[in-house]
Amino acid sequence: MSGQAATIVWFRNDLRLTDNPALAAAVARGGPIVPVFIWCPEEEGRWAPGAASRWWLHQSLIQLAAALDERGSRLALRHGPTHAALAALAQDTGATAVYWNLRSEPAVIARDNDLKKRLTESGFTVQSFNGNLLFEPREIRNSSGQPFRVFTAFWRACLQQRHAEVSKEVPRRLPEPDRWPHSARLVEFGLEPKIDWAGGLRETWTPGEKGATERLRRFGASALADYPTGRDRPDHDGTSRLSPHLHFGEISPGQVWRAILAHKSEQPKACEAYLRQLVWREFAHHLLYHFPQTAEQPLRPEFAEFPWRMRRKWLEAWQRGRTGYPLVDAGMRQLWHTGWMHNRVRLVVASFLVKHLLISWQEGARWFWDTLVDADLANNTLGWQWVAGCGADAAPYFRVFNPSLQARKFDPDEAYVKRWIPEYGTGAYPQPLVEHAEARARALDAFQKVGSRAMARAE
Ligand code: FAD
Repeated sequence: MSGQAATIVWFRNDLRLTDNPALAAAVARGGPIVPVFIWCPEEEGRWAPGAASRWWLHQSLIQLAAALDERGSRLALRHGPTHAALAALAQDTGATAVYWNLRSEPAVIARDNDLKKRLTESGFTVQSFNGNLLFEPREIRNSSGQPFRVFTAFWRACLQQRHAEVSKEVPRRLPEPDRWPHSARLVEFGLEPKIDWAGGLRETWTPGEKGATERLRRFGASALADYPTGRDRPDHDGTSRLSPHLHFGEISPGQVWRAILAHKSEQPKACEAYLRQLVWREFAHHLLYHFPQTAEQPLRPEFAEFPWRMRRKWLEAWQRGRTGYPLVDAGMRQLWHTGWMHNRVRLVVASFLVKHLLISWQEGARWFWDTLVDADLANNTLGWQWVAGCGADAAPYFRVFNPSLQARKFDPDEAYVKRWIPEYGTGAYPQPLVEHAEARARALDAFQKVGSRAMARAE
């Protein structure tokens, strides 16, 4: 034994043992390790995990606890407030250090900064690490020292940067404290739904580090080769579906990057196409870090005055997949059933909400937040603002997807639509909520006023 006092490793959205810098640093420090997860949704502001994310978190914590158990360790579960929970845990175990991996959400950053200050003042050694991104958002700047707002320039800058280093592998047995601290029971967190609606999620997903590693392996061995075209086909299994695993940190972006890069010599185009998507994730976190107001407010201020029209019935029809536009409805039902939706269809349903129905992107982002298993404040904000035309490097305001054309192009055999809408083609399927040409003209009229001002400012 090193004689070193215990280190608390505070797990958050980094629910893995491999390539986990906070855990690896705790091992390197020597002394016992006390892994903890603290449930405190109140500290995440308006963006505490939604229902589908809570379901995922419950399963992922079971997997993390089992993985720690295999290494002779244990996961302590505690209720917040976080400062009190960490202080009590330190008292119970004699820990003198607290390590964690960084997150990018504004409320979480503010909470973490405050915690760091208070714990340091009380004499703890506190260290935070970049475990969930390839690059720390504050380290990447354009030539004028400003954050990036254009993806291609950001991508090029990323290619010049060194990635976060791979963390040392953790030993087969993690050093134990003399006495294990008390742990709450996972059911006390109330993460699983009271009325069981999660059957579709259970059928679709295997949360946890092992599930993530297996999904990455399968994707590399099968769909990667066809990714440049397959990624746009919702009727195919053409994407990695790693998004919830990445969000919860069950696999690190570095692990994914390296695994994909290993295929570079035989599939250079497919590798590049995939790595670009991983860098979109980096870009989203970069933007949220530098423009923290954007989770609630458009990045382009001109859009704050946009004349959205809230029609509750239309919003409900969209949420339930009953708009009468098959690709939109199939996507919304896939989301409801599995907690995930194909990226191409996310673009189409989001465009339909903000352009055809003129309902605000914030309403859409909220619904996604509650129903997606991969709900991620940075990626969700970027996705919605991109579609609404009010974000960084966003779609031009005059692009109004035609959902019927999109369906013909990306679901030509209607396999996706038929998979998700059993009554498709029968009298039970609803008539279109709005007529496409009319809705398009209305959207262009509304967006033109705001969008042209925004474009003029950007030029
Ligand atoms: P793959 O094609 O296999 O891509 C690999 C990884 O790259 C993804 O897992 C994801 O981490 C990242 N990625 C891919 N596309 C994007 C993108 N456009 N922006 C940022 N990262 C990307 N993604 C989320 O993870 N959480 C969200 O809450 C979310 N909300 C979205 C909302 C809207 C309106 C839109 C248009 C997109 C949203 N996305 C979100 C981005 C994208 O749709 C998903 O990341 C992708 O569909 C996940 O599937 P996959 O893992 O199979 O992706």
